[in-house]
Amino acid sequence: MDMATQRVMVIFAHPDDPEFMVGGTMAKWAREGAHICYVFITDGSAGSNDPTMRKADLIAMRQREQRGACDTAGVKDIVFMGYTDGELQPTLQLRRDLTRLIRRFKPTIVVCGDPTSWFYGNGYINHPDHRAAAIAALEAVFPSSETLPIFRELLDENLPPHKVHQVWINGHPKPDTWVDISADLETKIEALRHHVSQVTVGDGDFIRKWAAEEGATANMAYAEHYKVMKLVNEEQA
Ligand SMILES: [Zn+2]
Repeated sequence: MDMATQRVMVIFAHPDDPEFMVGGTMAKWAREGAHICYVFITDGSAGSNDPTMRKADLIAMRQREQRGACDTAGVKDIVFMGYTDGELQPTLQLRRDLTRLIRRFKPTIVVCGDPTSWFYGNGYINHPDHRAAAIAALEAVFPSSETLPIFRELLDENLPPHKVHQVWINGHPKPDTWVDISADLETKIEALRHHVSQVTVGDGDFIRKWAAEEGATANMAYAEHYKVMKLVNEEQA
């Protein structure tokens, strides 16, 4: 795939989600010339249990951290949608808002999480915001972004239907596509380091361990894996 011609929209619930989940792939694609836009559905305001932390300060801090991470990874565009962190639902309103963003940016590729995963290992229950974000992202890709009669009001905003070519779903229990991130692993770790309020990266070895585990099945030193939906066949793309 010629990444220089790709427009990639990455849709997740929280600032820092793409750094953890798809940061190596995005650093690689950015380096290869893709135009990448990160969309954060929530405001990140539930990212602290410190009772003295003011909500507005936390939101601002997380946006600053995210901008730094995007600079490191070569991600040019960021959208903060401002839904309340920790209370996300895959509503029709959210689907419409995401459809608007998709029709505006016109991505060839959308990247999101897996809506079906409740458990990762035995120590982490998948955050409900992550599932809600993934459901809403997929429902916006199909059918609403490509179908004229759905959300007709978007036509008044000069936003005609747009068909996304591929959807890359991270965190699916049965992945079918592996991206070798060996050359971009250190960039992934450096980008994650910007999220000081959320994670202590330290020597970054836990990230190297995850990437090694994801790469093992595909005989890659370090990888991120996906289930890839191809909504347009290769000749049409
Ligand atoms: Zn998250």
